[in-house]
Amino acid sequence: MRKFLCISLGLIIFQALAGAQANVPRTTHYDLKYKIDFESQRLKAEAVVSLRNDSKSEIKTVPILLYRLLKFDAVKGERGNHLTFHQEVVSDEGEPQLQINRALITLATPLRPGATTKLNLAFSGYVYGYPEVSAYVRESIKPPYFLIRSETYSYPIIGEIDARKRYASQLGWTFTYRVEVTVPEDYVAAMGAHLDKQTTAGKESTFVWTREEPIGQIDIGIAKFKSIAKEDEGLTVFYLPQHDEGAKAVLNALAVSRKFYSETFGEQARKGGYTVIEIPKDWGSQAPLGYMILTEDAFTSTKQLRQLYHEVAHSWNAVTTGKVQRARFFDESFAVYFCALCRRSTDGQEGFDKEINGCRKYFPDDLKEMPGLSTTPIYKYGEHELGSANYVKGPWALYVLHRLVGDAAFYGGIRQFLVDYRTKPATFEDFRQVMEKASGIPLRKFFNDWIYTCNSDKLLLGTATVDEMVAAVKE
Ligand SMILES: [Zn+2]
Repeated sequence: MRKFLCISLGLIIFQALAGAQANVPRTTHYDLKYKIDFESQRLKAEAVVSLRNDSKSEIKTVPILLYRLLKFDAVKGERGNHLTFHQEVVSDEGEPQLQINRALITLATPLRPGATTKLNLAFSGYVYGYPEVSAYVRESIKPPYFLIRSETYSYPIIGEIDARKRYASQLGWTFTYRVEVTVPEDYVAAMGAHLDKQTTAGKESTFVWTREEPIGQIDIGIAKFKSIAKEDEGLTVFYLPQHDEGAKAVLNALAVSRKFYSETFGEQARKGGYTVIEIPKDWGSQAPLGYMILTEDAFTSTKQLRQLYHEVAHSWNAVTTGKVQRARFFDESFAVYFCALCRRSTDGQEGFDKEINGCRKYFPDDLKEMPGLSTTPIYKYGEHELGSANYVKGPWALYVLHRLVGDAAFYGGIRQFLVDYRTKPATFEDFRQVMEKASGIPLRKFFNDWIYTCNSDKLLLGTATVDEMVAAVKE
């Protein structure tokens, strides 16, 4: 069994190291138009990017990033006036292999604090992925599949070249969008957004989506997709044509897991449907808000549906910020444990045991590979960027807590916790208080041994059964 690692972790792992970046305006809306030509392996695009200055000082120059083989052809201001810009391929300071085309655009008049403007950008060129930077970023404009996403800077991204600083200072920045994509007529473009229009003219098809629900990234799959849907639930799966059977299983697993999580942990805060878009093997599954890009293995092996259960579970996460978020307990540990519970409902106790015992096996490896882990308790993982250990230890903490308080208190407590911390950020103490209230028993020893110290490590490393772990924290 492979250990889960949501791709988003890799993207923002540098956050703790980062300092402030120079003032850049914030992107509030994208209006993107793409034409994809598989024959020449080129794309041609226009972007209108809406910007707002949220800083306290004037902004005169705007840095914009694109993939190293995409070139800005023209840059205009809000009224169509040509703007001076200088573009060159530069390397990221923290990651020298990462070469990005950066344009520095001089605004016609400085953007005052609070003011907004728009940039009209025309760009074109080639995309060949970034395998030299991230093994999973392999897309190029070639049949049978092209993917437009932030990792390849295949749409213009405002900010500095240093990814560490950019991720840190732009964390939580979101935007709305309108996207129009023209592809050869036998191709389909798919997004996790509302499809406004699909038209065919000549030998080309054009797809138009809008998204009003703010989000921090854009993903567009382009392939000879087929699709199936459960229209009453708003669920859609876009899949490669050879995976008819797998797509049915994915759609079913999507419906089943959403039903399981909402019956067990309450209705999720987010209303509306959900879209799954298949991507090729090893291109990195991700689950942004309201949709998922999911690798091919989940369509060819029902065993890999656990990826989907895990990603869907992220829709049932409480809000956390800063170091608490970076501990990855309230998102990753919860998603891993929820996935195990979901598998109990679909595959029986054996499915649950496989999931939970599968992750325990990684604990000795984590201790070996992550310096400082053996002396850092869960609540401090965020301070030392050890959050990826919470794919392993955190789920066991939840398992022991579950067995300690019983089904009714565990499910009831988590329901309450998700309602209370739907918009305001939770802390470990908040979680303790909600679970104590729901169970009516003191949980000081459990929280001490599993969250606030490393006392539980020897049990997790040894051969202790979950019952023995529960007995050790009974008061
Ligand atoms: Zn995850």
